[in-house]
Amino acid sequence: MTGPIAPSDTALTPLLARETERFEREHPASVAHAARARESLLGGVPMSWMLRWASPVPLVLREARGATVTDIDGHTYADLCLGDTGAMTGHGPAPIVEAITDRYARGATAMLPTEDAAWVGTELTRRFGVDRWQFTVSATDANRFALRMARAITGRPKVLVFSYCYHGTVDEAFITLEDGRPAVREGNVGPAFDVRETTRAVEFNDLDALERELRHEDVAVVLTEPALTNIGIVLPEPGFHDELRRLCTETGTLLLIDETHTLSAGPGGCTQAWGLDPDIVVVGKAIAGGVPTGAFGMRAELAARMLADRDADIEDVGGVGGTLAGNALSMAAARAALGEVLTDDAYAHTIALAGRFADGVRDVLARHGVPWHVTQLGARAEYRFSAEPPRDGGASAAIGHEGLEQFLHLHALNRGVLITPFHNMALMSPATAEADVDRHTAAFDDALGEIAATLG
Ligand code: PMP
Repeated sequence: MTGPIAPSDTALTPLLARETERFEREHPASVAHAARARESLLGGVPMSWMLRWASPVPLVLREARGATVTDIDGHTYADLCLGDTGAMTGHGPAPIVEAITDRYARGATAMLPTEDAAWVGTELTRRFGVDRWQFTVSATDANRFALRMARAITGRPKVLVFSYCYHGTVDEAFITLEDGRPAVREGNVGPAFDVRETTRAVEFNDLDALERELRHEDVAVVLTEPALTNIGIVLPEPGFHDELRRLCTETGTLLLIDETHTLSAGPGGCTQAWGLDPDIVVVGKAIAGGVPTGAFGMRAELAARMLADRDADIEDVGGVGGTLAGNALSMAAARAALGEVLTDDAYAHTIALAGRFADGVRDVLARHGVPWHVTQLGARAEYRFSAEPPRDGGASAAIGHEGLEQFLHLHALNRGVLITPFHNMALMSPATAEADVDRHTAAFDDALGEIAATLG
């Protein structure tokens, strides 16, 4: 495995120090707020991953509209992070604002279904093919409950995932391959069990290993994104999905495609765009415009088997639930988001913009002679620090470079552009404009001038 094409620490340290000093000078209100917030919040933030921003303290949000974010110091940013997909609809689109306002006034949560839920189920079937849907509070929950149901339906104990996958805080997925052997993923917080007992792991695109592991016939379900997006974007090689489908069918294993991020590929994610044939589909984040909602859907025959299972308590305390799941508010938001915002026309706009982003970045890289690669997945695009795109999670992890990422993110932030903390990814919304993309290209050009000088 080769490492990233990156500056030395000696070259990077003063650049990072300069950007950090600039951030602190220009964001006195966010800095002061962080000190106050540490008195009441763990780490000074409402959720600990917010500490991952490249800035010394996170920006404090005053408001976000369309594709722009404004912080409490009064700075405005082009938002290419979009809440790491949660705001892929853009911030506050009128149809969702109206739907939520109306629904909240008429009851947000009552333990009762609304007509909107069945509408959303039908729409998700139209987009993703699978027939029977359930709603959850998050995509994580959707994955968790889908895994439970897959185990209940097949009577098999294990799950198979690809090394360095991420599917939310799903215990069974915190596994990587180290020197070819399964290992608990570094940093796992207070694991409830040894993940190697519940999970088989192979590298993405490694069909031989996949076949070997599935032939044990103890795997209930393969859980995967259609392309990995959480360890950089790793695309499937030609034929990978056909073989994955064939091997699952042959070994009696269910196939769960998690489209939470790859909803960027088109209105029906990669499942529709690439003609995939999953047994179970998970979506989340953007489907209700940022109102917490996840969903999982399965083939009708699996739903029938689940309903017929007298031992599995899906109605009470059987481990599948969430009081606020599928409530009136989230279903009204999802109906508006899917029906009126994340439309075919919207995708034409956002995919073209991601193309503009990728072209702009490629152009800058070529001009500065820096041989990094750029990958586009529909409305999302990303640059990473190697010439060739990695073919699996392990190779992709090896080209990560935290310091370099931090510099690029902080440099962009100081010039009015937000990129997702966990990635070098940019995502487009219906509200994003060419000017937002070009603002990034200009900042990236400036940063690359500095990086290229250090590479010599
Ligand atoms: N699946 C995928 C592919 C994800 O990327 C994520 C989060 N990044 C999740 C599931 C979990 O989403 P959430 O944190 O909203 O539950």
